[in-house]
Amino acid sequence: MAKQKPKKERKFGKGSRPCIRCGSYGPIIRRYKLYICRHCFREVAKKLGFRKYE
Ligand SMILES: [Zn+2]
Repeated sequence: MAKQKPKKERKFGKGSRPCIRCGSYGPIIRRYKLYICRHCFREVAKKLGFRKYE
């Protein structure tokens, strides 16, 4: 008999958003109100001129 497990809706933490660039739910950098993941941030940072992020 299959046990019925209560479906728990996994809600992301407050303010958690998917990357606005690639849409993946990962470590999101909310700095500068960009809401992008680390991978995308590195690429975007180059365009924006950020070089201190490492
Ligand atoms: Zn991304």
